[in-house]
Amino acid sequence: MSDNKKELQAIPFKAETRQLLNILIHSLYSEREVFLRELISNASDALTRLHFETLTNRNILDPDVEMGIWITPNETERTLTIRDTGIGMTLEEMVENLGTIAQSGARVFLQAAESNPGNLSDIIGQFGVGFYSAFMVAEWIRVESRSFRPEAQGAIWFSTGDDTFTVEPADIHTRGTTVTIKLKEDALEFTRSYRLREIIKKHSDYIPYPIYLGEDKEQVNQQTALWRTPPREVAKEQAFEFYRQLTLDFNEPLTYLHLNIDAPVQLYALLFIPSTPEKPLFSPRKEDGLKLYARKVLIQEYCRDILPNYFRFVQGVVDSEDIPLNVSRETIQASKAMPQLKKVVTRKLLDHLNAMGKDQADNYAKFWKAFGAYIKEGVATDHETHSDLVPLLRFVTLNHPDSLISLDQYIEEAHPDQKKIYYLLGDDPRAVFHSPHLDLYRKNKVDVLLLSDPLDPFVMLSLTQYKDYSLVNAALEKPQTSSQEPEPEPEESLPLDEVNRLIRLFKERLGEKVSEVRSTDRLTTSPVRLVNKDGSLQQEVQKVYQLMRKEYTLPEKILEINPSHELIKQLSSLPEEDERVPLAIDQLFENALLIEGLHPDPAGMVDRINRLLKTALK
Ligand code: ADP
Ligand code: MG
Repeated sequence: MSDNKKELQAIPFKAETRQLLNILIHSLYSEREVFLRELISNASDALTRLHFETLTNRNILDPDVEMGIWITPNETERTLTIRDTGIGMTLEEMVENLGTIAQSGARVFLQAAESNPGNLSDIIGQFGVGFYSAFMVAEWIRVESRSFRPEAQGAIWFSTGDDTFTVEPADIHTRGTTVTIKLKEDALEFTRSYRLREIIKKHSDYIPYPIYLGEDKEQVNQQTALWRTPPREVAKEQAFEFYRQLTLDFNEPLTYLHLNIDAPVQLYALLFIPSTPEKPLFSPRKEDGLKLYARKVLIQEYCRDILPNYFRFVQGVVDSEDIPLNVSRETIQASKAMPQLKKVVTRKLLDHLNAMGKDQADNYAKFWKAFGAYIKEGVATDHETHSDLVPLLRFVTLNHPDSLISLDQYIEEAHPDQKKIYYLLGDDPRAVFHSPHLDLYRKNKVDVLLLSDPLDPFVMLSLTQYKDYSLVNAALEKPQTSSQEPEPEPEESLPLDEVNRLIRLFKERLGEKVSEVRSTDRLTTSPVRLVNKDGSLQQEVQKVYQLMRKEYTLPEKILEINPSHELIKQLSSLPEEDERVPLAIDQLFENALLIEGLHPDPAGMVDRINRLLKTALK
């Protein structure tokens, strides 16, 4: 057909596509076989799109033709064809989809290729570059297609992978697409049946439509719904391979869960937690959500009604006998089985994660690092599963600054009389760790959760109680030390008169910057600290405001001074007119701001510090 071609107008490929083709054609990538995976995946997508079309549209060409994929090599012609009975393309759609549309993926690929010229093969392997990858093995490619719309006309697309392609109308009467590849001389292996069978098995075994090979039309892919196989018969490697084919994520998932449940609702599910929240660039999973099947038939490609929103990073498949087959996307939510499915699958996933947290601490730590923010989001927003999520939380604490502990571990380690769980909020992990609010806790060895993630204030607003323990802000409370030895009176404190004189000096110097100055017995190693005015908004709420409204100014704070601290005593021994007195007061105040994460201009302190240094070195 292409031998006696008439003069056709050549349409230039989009610039990025030209660059992409240039790289692919000249690459020495050794795993060229992935081109077949890409073409089969396109055929499978086209069949799925047709399937969805049939749910709502009665006006479809060849409604009864088998939904499948046929792969036919021809050794003498050195060609390979991939045919599907999917949705097909019109001439205009071909021009768009196979040539002129700007592919965002192509751009990302090209950037990666540019910054990594030595490692092209790695990059191609990671990206899965779609239809154009066929040019790695092709002298030319011809695509013949007939759209499912009865009134449409057939069309042929042709290109040798240079800068242009051609399209022309054609008489094609059956629905679907046939891609014919004229193989390069060094790509003869792709005419051998055993080799094609091997590639299909390796990359496309779980494609949900039959893939037939060769003249005798032998079905090659198992097409088994792996999720319907009894879980104990599915090896971890098989499950991981399924995940790889589903997502094209070449990193192993952190964990997976295989369910086969009969009551209260029948379901099979195979769920995966990826190693990171970022999707691979060319992931075929374009949106969040699980694949939903009813009796092995795909009902929805991205179903977000099965898991709570915060679990949107979970990948996989859910299949149920209890969902009616003829539901459309719009009516799925109305199905009675859906809430039950959601409840059961969510419950199982939460149990799985809890068990993982107990039995596989290292793996759970990886999970927490990648998806902790999602769990926190759930704690703050999802009331139904709130109490199941709280045990999944992990914290850095005063007594465990370099590891992560759960609230259960906190409770286990707490003194039997301690009835509260203490936490402290701040902007920066180190500042929180060194906060003066922790003086007494450190001294009494009472543990405190150290919270510096922007999400933490939101979490703490909805987390006021765990088991018998109330959660309280360490900045507002003294640690309970009831049954421990009574607190010794702070020794060598300044006399009351002297404390009052200092308070006056601080007030005069700081003026409007603080709402009050007073002395405190809650500090040991810190000279001063800032606390909230009584009756002012909770610190959690203030921080939430601060995050949501940038211009929000923090309310004034109370400055508390520690009359037993060496610095305060030295300050008291200076004559009032000494130039160091105002310098020291300013600096003590700003140190406290700094530690609270509230200092508006830390670099502005340098000048004063230098003046203090000068007087100290005199
Ligand atoms: P992707 O599959 O990621 O969209 P591809 O480069 O693999 O990118 O394919 C580009 C587009 O060409 C597809 O999105 C689809 O619209 C169209 N296409 C490719 N192959 C087929 C096919 N067999 N049937 C129908 N449309 C197809
Ligand atoms: Mg594709």
